[in-house]
Amino acid sequence: IRIAVLNETEEGERRVAATPETVGKFAKLGAELAVEQGAGDGARQSDEAYREAGAKVGTRLEVLDGADIVLAVRAPDPAALKGAKAGAWIVAMHDPFQRTERVEAYAKAGLEALAMEFMPRITRAQSMDVLSSQSNLAGYKAVIHSADTFGRAFPMMMTAAGTVSPAKVFVMGVGVAGLQAIATAKRLGAQVSATDVRSATKEQIKSLGAKPIFVESVEGIEGEGSGGYATEMSDEYKAAQAELVSDHIAKQDIVITTALIPGRPAPKLISDAQIASMKPGSVICDLAVVQGGNVEGSAPDEVVEKHGVTIIGFSNTAGELAADASALYSRNLYNFLSAFWDAEQGRPVLDEEIGDAVRLTQGGEVVNESL
Ligand code: NAD
Repeated sequence: IRIAVLNETEEGERRVAATPETVGKFAKLGAELAVEQGAGDGARQSDEAYREAGAKVGTRLEVLDGADIVLAVRAPDPAALKGAKAGAWIVAMHDPFQRTERVEAYAKAGLEALAMEFMPRITRAQSMDVLSSQSNLAGYKAVIHSADTFGRAFPMMMTAAGTVSPAKVFVMGVGVAGLQAIATAKRLGAQVSATDVRSATKEQIKSLGAKPIFVESVEGIEGEGSGGYATEMSDEYKAAQAELVSDHIAKQDIVITTALIPGRPAPKLISDAQIASMKPGSVICDLAVVQGGNVEGSAPDEVVEKHGVTIIGFSNTAGELAADASALYSRNLYNFLSAFWDAEQGRPVLDEEIGDAVRLTQGGEVVNESL
């Protein structure tokens, strides 16, 4: 079969969906690989390296011609996929909850859209989980951005001229990104605290040497929550959380927010009044900005200043580490497709549990239960 790897079409997207490493592995399975010219440039992978790994490198038209599977980071407009076979698989991040029209367009175009975001959180799919691989890098980079913007140091420094006190960092939402943010801020020497609605995260926060800040008066989500994901909280919980967090936020230098609810807008966790309570020069980094944001007034790809507080809202934080993000994303895709490789048919054949979870469109219809 033919696997095509495309140049990303979204503005500013530097990641690539296959590296020479995974191209070589796919070739070993017997697939023919075709990579669009310059696809790896943003992730520092040259056309030459792809050729050496066994791929043909060509124009978009050449690469798409007769493709059975198209690999992308962000699903392109299906109109830009002319030449791919009828029923070809488009394996990418499809952002299916927000881009519903595009999913419809995939159905109409007779293509099979496979959304990597919908990979179920089961043990055997951990190595295929793109949300985790990308969130981990985003959590790290959010701290680096914040530290860079903050006009003070993170670690405590005792010098002949006096002591520099450590920065106080508060992480809201302790999933994959939040845990990495805690770990990174600790490594830089900050005093770190964190909160979440899932009770299982309390131990995780402590194990990283940070202080858990939790609502105790109203029950949160016991244990991990379904699939590790949170749900919308009750109004009573939200009120208790706002009150608890208000006092705490006023004392922080850096707040990193990562809270998400699958299929819903991100919960609003920081109000304008809370921002106003912070010291001038403080920094907030809102990793949920694309899903509507956790912070009042944050905007995608903007750095805004309110009440002397800088609010960072980059929309593609993982993508800024394009080389690492691409390496991990590419392996996620390879782990996924190779796990289902059928040697006789010479192509992947998905099972029901994972196939039904990730498949958005098939036979001209939108087929996914979550949509
Ligand atoms: P996520 O990106 O969906 O959300 C980030 C965090 O925000 C979550 O911890 C969530 O509980 C929290 N949150 C939501 N609403 C909130 C609110 N109102 N206030 C405060 N926090 C709020 O989550 P994620 O990073 O994808 O990970 C969630 C969990 O899933 C983690 O425990 C992770 O270890 C687990 N996980 C399991 C697997 C697997 O088993 N295969 C794979 C990946 C992640």
